[in-house]
Amino acid sequence: AYRDPAMPADALLPLLKSTFGFDAFRGRQAEVVERVMAGERTLAVMPTGAGKSLTYQLPAVALDGCVVVVSPLIALMHDQLRGARAAGIRAASLTSVDADFADTRQAYRDGELDLLYIAPERATGDGFRSLMEARRPALFAIDEAHCVSEWGHDFRPDYRLLRPLLDAFPDVPRLALTATADKHTREDILVQLGIPGDGLVLAGFDRPNIRYRVGPRISPAKQLADFIAANPGPGIVYCPTRDGTERMAGKLAAATGRSVAAYHAGLDPERRARVQQEFVASEDGIVTATVAFGMGIDKPDVRFVAHAGLPKSIESYYQETGRAGRDGDPAEALMLWGAEDFARARMRLGELPEARIAGERARLNALAALVETVECRRALLLRHFGENPPERCGNCDTCLDPPSQVDATVLAQKLLSAVYRTGQSYGAGHVEAVLTGRADERIASRGHDKLSVFGIVAGEEARLIKPLVRTLVAREALETTEHGGLMFGPAGRAVMKGEVPVLIAEPPAPRLTRTSRGDR
Ligand code: ADP
Ligand code: ZN
Repeated sequence: AYRDPAMPADALLPLLKSTFGFDAFRGRQAEVVERVMAGERTLAVMPTGAGKSLTYQLPAVALDGCVVVVSPLIALMHDQLRGARAAGIRAASLTSVDADFADTRQAYRDGELDLLYIAPERATGDGFRSLMEARRPALFAIDEAHCVSEWGHDFRPDYRLLRPLLDAFPDVPRLALTATADKHTREDILVQLGIPGDGLVLAGFDRPNIRYRVGPRISPAKQLADFIAANPGPGIVYCPTRDGTERMAGKLAAATGRSVAAYHAGLDPERRARVQQEFVASEDGIVTATVAFGMGIDKPDVRFVAHAGLPKSIESYYQETGRAGRDGDPAEALMLWGAEDFARARMRLGELPEARIAGERARLNALAALVETVECRRALLLRHFGENPPERCGNCDTCLDPPSQVDATVLAQKLLSAVYRTGQSYGAGHVEAVLTGRADERIASRGHDKLSVFGIVAGEEARLIKPLVRTLVAREALETTEHGGLMFGPAGRAVMKGEVPVLIAEPPAPRLTRTSRGDR
């Protein structure tokens, strides 16, 4: 009944209040809702907690017809279902664990549903297509839309099969939603789901109350114990392995005298539920956990999130650290990393299907840039998510305690010209070999030893090449090709012309131990 192509979101405020009890839209919700109501195809990229579900739940109430939501996580789906029903929305789900299948389908056919959640593997089947033909939905919402992209960190082949379903109903508007999509992934989602480029709504990612710290891992238990001693509130310590969570729990409990519980998917369900409940209720509890912990946990006063090892991607880092300080009060994020984290992750690249390697490699390079930068960590994070933040935030380790840095502006010019002269298709190793004048067979056979850039970087400077590549990739002065080669990115020309200074962190000298900047 509300359908009106030019309806401002303000017209929905009474419904927002009466259904959800909210007085106003938050962030860019209004814009997304307006597009949905106008039938425009949209990709909403909003951080966790920004209120993405509202952008289809409100239209579910406002529009005639049922909103169909494709969502990959059954547990989260059922949480949402409960929430929607509590708000008085007629909602149901079709997943492998739902027994009332026939009833739900009938209710849909009879027009008795506002909101229908469905798992992707069901949405792509013939049965579902004919259900949609029996009654046209009001909107297709595709949650966790990054799953459609091989660039995304959680590719799911089922998502690729959604396109024919969407295209079978070209007049039904589509709304893709995700919390975690870098530029590549966003562009890919738009293409894969048939959403025009101007359909992208990108919401603010900054969490100004979180202080980011990143440092080398030297003696993790000690570093983390010191960090915890300075942070009396509740917190989460992410560990890379299940065993690691248990070992770390023991060490931290002994070193800090605080209550520390381990949490991972290998524990029995009751134990996991108890750890969760106790953590949510506590004012100083600590959980050492694998990444399985945190999803769907509603605890606004988490004061710190620590990573004992490299997270999987910038997206995961942002999501995991984002569990700190949801109440807006100051919170801390500390990441400890070692070169071996990268080595291990790069080794695993080889085990991946060909099509995913480039995406995973780009993800690692972005993480490398985050841990190595001498510039503001927050600015780097926000730029990764497509924002244009101020140069310095004043609330991260590099802003508070700037590390020593090297001017690599000229080296960057040399590097870019080597990339250019070798035809923008070789990887960092090859370019480095050209610059340092290491004439192997491959270089000789391509005549790269005859280039003017051959051997123009001297020994001492050579160790800066790798960190510099990562910095330039992070700044989009360089991009990686599908095959891992380096090519110019949008910011490449300005760097090559020496128009922008390039400062990088002094790489740690071998054997010289440094204390972490983050352990105080
Ligand atoms: P996301 O899916 O983006 O992670 P959710 O949809 O789970 O976020 O919403 C996060 C929280 O914000 C929920 O508790 C929700 O009720 C609340 N919320 C959403 N929209 C609003 C709003 N306009 N005003 C106040 N609270 C809101
Ligand atoms: Zn900063």
